[in-house]
This record gives sequence, structure tokens and C-alpha cells, in this order.
Amino acid sequence: MSGTKPSERADALVLSAVERRYREGAGELAVLRGVDLRLAPGELVALVAPSGAGKSTLLHIAALLERPDSGRVEVAGVDTTGLGDSARTDLRRGAIGMVYQFHHLLPDFTALENVSMPLRLAGVSKREAERAANELLDELGVAPRASHRPGELSGGERQRVAIARAVANRPALLLADEPTGNLDPGTAEHVFSAFVRLARFTGLAALVATHNHELADRMDRRVTLVDGRCEQV
Ligand code: ADP
Repeated sequence: MSGTKPSERADALVLSAVERRYREGAGELAVLRGVDLRLAPGELVALVAPSGAGKSTLLHIAALLERPDSGRVEVAGVDTTGLGDSARTDLRRGAIGMVYQFHHLLPDFTALENVSMPLRLAGVSKREAERAANELLDELGVAPRASHRPGELSGGERQRVAIARAVANRPALLLADEPTGNLDPGTAEHVFSAFVRLARFTGLAALVATHNHELADRMDRRVTLVDGRCEQV
């Protein structure tokens, strides 16, 4: 099922025969060599593979930040093959949320403003954007820190705010690259629990690259990259 508008009922992500090569000196490095991966709506999938296996490359392609050399990428039922840059950007803004190892919050804005910003950019009123942002901060257990700027928050609090911001416009798909990789184990565990609860609450699908096997076990299933292909583990 694929159309031109994102649909919550369609698979959140479909990668079919995705290939990506990088130029390396005189030769080429084939990082992705025919990746097939499908995330049903609401499914939480851990991507666990050694450093250099191609996790970030796969996430960038799924996030429509990079194009594959060949293969097909579908997000929320929209086939991106042949879409121009502005249509890809619109689809990314409407259907995809991203969380990185480092929070990338805007330092001069409060937690509440950081989370409500994507909604304001999408045309939501200030009042409604702040109501929705407060609800997300509450769900992630950081509502009491809403009026603080990132510099006044702990690492774990910042990551919770970054997660709230990533899901503010209710994406069908959340992509996360080592979201707790920069936190101590106890904080990582708390942030991850809050993330899984929020994902269940909002019904979004997520693909999360992580080295943490305990956290990966909390997802619905786990995949890895072997020789540039995605395998179920
Ligand atoms: P991971 O996230 O699993 O650590 P990456 O996707 O970052 O893996 O990288 C996979 C391989 O591709 C690595 O060998 C890396 O050096 C190489 N690579 C990644 N991005 C580029 C790029 N823009 N140009 C050239 N090589 C790259």
C-alpha cells in the first residue's frame, strides 16, 4: 500500500533492496548491499550492530537525509522513489522524528519552547502547541523542568526533552541513533523506559540504533547488519 500522503495505517518504514556505496580513494566501500526492512505501525525495533556496520547510514537513508544508490524507501506508505528534495523534506517534517546521541536542543529556548517549536512551525497555535508540549514533557517526567533552558538541565533531562521534541508533531516513525549512548547506565535505563512508555502511548514506530543489549531487549524485536544486509536476530 503506497500513496502520496503519509498514512498511520501503512507500514511506518519499508526499505527494499537498499544499496549505498561510498567512494573510498580509488575504489568504493559498499556499506549497504541490499537492505530489506519493514516496520509495522507502532512497532519498536532495535538496530544492534558493531561500529562501522552502517547503522547511521541506514538511519540517514530512512530519515530521507540521504538517497540510496538503488532500492526503495517508503515512509508511512509514501514511496519516496522519484520524490524531489522539497517533497522529501515535507514528508520528513510530517512523518519522521529524530533523536541523536547529543540532544541538539536550542540553547536559548526553554524546554517547553524547544518542544512546542515543531508544532508552531507546522502552524499550530501557541496555546495548543504549549498544551501538547506540556503533555509530552509530563509523559516523559520532565514537566517540572519546562521553564528551564538546556544548559540548566541534566544530561538525562535534556535527552527526555529531545525525545519530546522529536515526537511533538506525532510522526509515524521515530529514528534514533544511540539516544542514550552519552548517559550513565542508570540514567540511560530511566530515559529508555520513558521513551518506550511514550512510544506505546503515542503509537509511533521506532528504529533505534543502540549498543545496549538490555535496552534492545525491551523493544519488540531486534535486527542487525551483516555484510551490508539486515538480518533478524
Ligand atoms: P555505524 O553507524 O554502524 O558505525 P556508519 O553508517 O557510520 O556505521 O558507517 C559505515 C561505514 O561507511 C564506515 O566504514 C564509515 O567510515 C563509512 N562512511 C560513512 N559515511 C561516509 C561518508 N560520508 N563518506 C565515506 N565513507 C563513509
